[in-house]
Amino acid sequence: MTDCLFCKIVSGDVPAKIVRESAGTVAFRDINPQAPTHVLVIPRAHHATVADLADADPGLLAELLREAREVAVDDGVAEGGYRIVFNTGAQAGQTVFHVHAHVLGGRGLNWPPG
Ligand code: 5GP
Repeated sequence: MTDCLFCKIVSGDVPAKIVRESAGTVAFRDINPQAPTHVLVIPRAHHATVADLADADPGLLAELLREAREVAVDDGVAEGGYRIVFNTGAQAGQTVFHVHAHVLGGRGLNWPPG
């Protein structure tokens, strides 16, 4: 999609601190990190929400989740524990409508989230 911020990160038109890439995904550091590790994992293909991605391409969703795990391993937070978050819809706080997994770790995380 031409007007999608995260599609522009995939294409390289918007710079990002990329930490991992796979055939179907790109992972990059969040511009406004909420934890020592805060990485966004996105599919290269545009899907608005995780629910849309689950319907359209469940294999790609599984790849995205494996990549999220590898981000946690690479950053050294897998053992201590980490959180994978998909904000889904505006009321849940989704601001970029290109599905992204937030991978958060490196500090204690409260439950429930705000
Ligand atoms: P959402 O609120 O949609 O769940 O998450 C969007 C995330 O994208 C936010 O955590 C926000 O900080 C991050 N973000 C927004 N614009 C940019 C950008 O241009 N570059 C990067 N790396 N992250 C961004």
